[in-house]
Amino acid sequence: MTAEVIYGNVLAEKLRIDMKDEVILLREQGIQPKLTVVLIGDDPASKSYVKGKQKASEFVGVESDLIELPENTTEKTLLDLIDQLNADQTIHGILVQLPLPDQIREQLVIEAISPEKDVDGFHPINIGRMLTGKDTFLPCTPFGIITMLKSKNIEMSGKNAVVIGRSNIVGKPVGQLLLNENATVTYCHSRTKNMDQFIKEADIVIVAVGIAHFLRAEAVKPGAVVIDVGINRLEDGSLTGDVDFENVKEKASFITPVPKGVGPMTITMLLHNTIKSAKKIYHV
Ligand code: NAD
Repeated sequence: MTAEVIYGNVLAEKLRIDMKDEVILLREQGIQPKLTVVLIGDDPASKSYVKGKQKASEFVGVESDLIELPENTTEKTLLDLIDQLNADQTIHGILVQLPLPDQIREQLVIEAISPEKDVDGFHPINIGRMLTGKDTFLPCTPFGIITMLKSKNIEMSGKNAVVIGRSNIVGKPVGQLLLNENATVTYCHSRTKNMDQFIKEADIVIVAVGIAHFLRAEAVKPGAVVIDVGINRLEDGSLTGDVDFENVKEKASFITPVPKGVGPMTITMLLHNTIKSAKKIYHV
């Protein structure tokens, strides 16, 4: 079996074109969705993500402001800025690019952003709403993954799903969203013993570890759906995922590539959440 490749970039483009039309209609009603991104320091990866977000915002017609602060910014300065952004009625989404410098406590910052403007979906209130299946801003990468699965009509209900990785931004929430779709979810992580015993039973495998070629074809059940979240830079500068794509592709039924897989979906869901926030504020 050779897997069908799910190209996130193709789906993302389709969704962004629809969003562009939606924003045109909102603008006709005097509503201009606006996202403010705060970037602290000079981390090249963060800079490149932020650039990608701005480019995509521009395409869709979401206004995107970038506030750049130096690496030595204090926690108080950032929290005061977030207070101002929370109070600004013209801003519908606030995103503070992670990771933050050591002097700033990440969780404090996440909790300072108004849950109404938390388009990343990281605030504990929004996580609680996700957990209880309420309408909320879903975290962008997990939301993008579920959207990719749905786009191919991949059944999740009653399926065995294994999530490898348990970070707050990817692993944990994607497992929760799969559970909300009635999958039977197993989390594997760095302390899991004999991981292959779980993977070999999995109809859906989500890999979010950050180790190149971590998932080998031998471990995968024939016909499984494999979603690769990892982004790893190789010595030659190229990007690769957490899945041994070439070999796993021959065993899986569906697989996502890296690049052109989950990455473009993450930014797309961020724009979705920003537009959703603007609509909510104006009750449309
Ligand atoms: P993280 O470092 O916070 O978490 C990694 C997880 O992998 C941990 O929960 C850990 O338990 C698990 N892990 C580590 N070593 C393991 C091992 N040997 N066996 C099993 N599990 C192991 O990372 P993250 O933020 O969740 O990101 C994971 C990967 O996804 C990274 O490569 C990151 O760059 C990428 N990522 C991609 C997107 C996207 O939009 N495509 C978004 C976020 C993260």
